[in-house]
Amino acid sequence: MSTAKNIAGISGETRFAVVLGDPVRHSRSPALHNAAFGAVAVDGAFLACEVAPAELGDAIAGLRALGFLGASITVPHKQAVMQFCDRIDSVAETIGAVNCLAFDQSGALVGHNTDAGGFADSLTETGATAQGKRVVLLGAGGAARAVAAGMHDAGASAVTVVARTPSKAAWADTYGGASAWTAESMPSLLGACDLLVDCTPVALTESGDLAYPAEVDVGLLPSGCVVASLIYHRKPGLLAAAESRGLETLDGAGMLVHQGARAFELWTGMAAPIDAMWRAMRSSLDG
Ligand code: NAP
Repeated sequence: MSTAKNIAGISGETRFAVVLGDPVRHSRSPALHNAAFGAVAVDGAFLACEVAPAELGDAIAGLRALGFLGASITVPHKQAVMQFCDRIDSVAETIGAVNCLAFDQSGALVGHNTDAGGFADSLTETGATAQGKRVVLLGAGGAARAVAAGMHDAGASAVTVVARTPSKAAWADTYGGASAWTAESMPSLLGACDLLVDCTPVALTESGDLAYPAEVDVGLLPSGCVVASLIYHRKPGLLAAAESRGLETLDGAGMLVHQGARAFELWTGMAAPIDAMWRAMRSSLDG
């Protein structure tokens, strides 16, 4: 995998950003952000640091002490990091999770959620819109919360969260409500859906995907429905089945690129070089 910046390009002027997670070695964020720094006139470099939950507070204190531009926050720290912020922006507050830290002009550390807008941007990039659409989300975890907020803010007429554990979907009342995940409920949910987003990790692995819940039958979807997955390293069977039916599909690569682009803009105040970030994303997927 190639990166636009290497240690030879680092000087005393270089400012740093970092992704904090556990694990973090698989992260595509260094490739995306180093390509972005390399494409614009910002002397910056992006690192990945594995931080155990017990060390998160010290890691955040380190960002402050070392004058970092900011940080991306990934699993399992998206909720825990909130206690270390000076302020949480309204989107992250609503979602209850922070995936980006940036310092404001007064030096306060602000927690943001760029996953929500990142998914919305990735949908817009395809030419589709959430405006007035009936959105159905499969799964009720952290990613579903971000997608729900993003689609609500983008003007969806309803966002319905389908959860196999209904007690974990009480948050969905803010949007369009939750529905139980059953073979009986699925036909009416899918039959009245303009955008279906799989927010479960089921298709992360081939074996999980092969056992994908049969009740999520793309044959039940209206002909204009768009089908999305948040997974980007392999093509989920759900998207393959939707394509076979002639439906538009969207994988999770765009969400990753655009949440990163929004973070880059918060750190640098500059428009993110989306094309360079997409090239880095594609080459990291090929590599
Ligand atoms: P999470 O918090 O663990 O939530 C997962 C949700 O999926 C839970 O509601 C869970 O239900 C449900 N689920 C799991 N297995 C299921 C099954 N067999 N049938 C029905 N529901 C099932 O995970 P997350 O953080 O939301 O992440 C979800 C996926 O999004 C992951 O694959 C992650 O990699 C991806 N993601 C992608 C991006 C991107 O930028 N592309 C960003 C964030 C996340 P229970 O509560 O009942 O277990």
